[in-house]
Amino acid sequence: MADCLFCRIIRGEVPSKQVYEDEHTFAFDDINPQAPTHVLVIPKKHIAGLKEAEAGDAELIGRCHLAAAHIARQRSIEDGYRTVLNVGPRAGQSVFHLHVHLIGGRTLQWPPG
Ligand code: AMP
Ligand code: ZN
Repeated sequence: MADCLFCRIIRGEVPSKQVYEDEHTFAFDDINPQAPTHVLVIPKKHIAGLKEAEAGDAELIGRCHLAAAHIARQRSIEDGYRTVLNVGPRAGQSVFHLHVHLIGGRTLQWPPG
């Protein structure tokens, strides 16, 4: 999508600190990290968010989570991390290209705020 921030990051038009990439997914450091590891994993296909996703996107959403698990393993934060999708503005979604937050490297509270 032409004017989507995360599509522009995938295309390299907006700089990012890339963490991981494969055929279907791309991951980069969050610009405003909330933990020692705060990585965003996104599908290369533009999907606005979880509520806009369709049945055909199921595998892609799973791939984003598996990429997050891979990154967590590489960073040795498997003693506790969280994968989060904020869905809708009231949950804090501010970028409307589906993204999985991978947050870890510190003790995480429950429930999230
Ligand atoms: P959300 O609030 O769930 O939509 O998450 C959007 C995330 O994108 C926030 O955590 C922002 O800090 C992050 N973000 C916004 N712009 C950029 C950027 N240019 N590079 C990296 N992360 C970004
Ligand atoms: Zn996009």
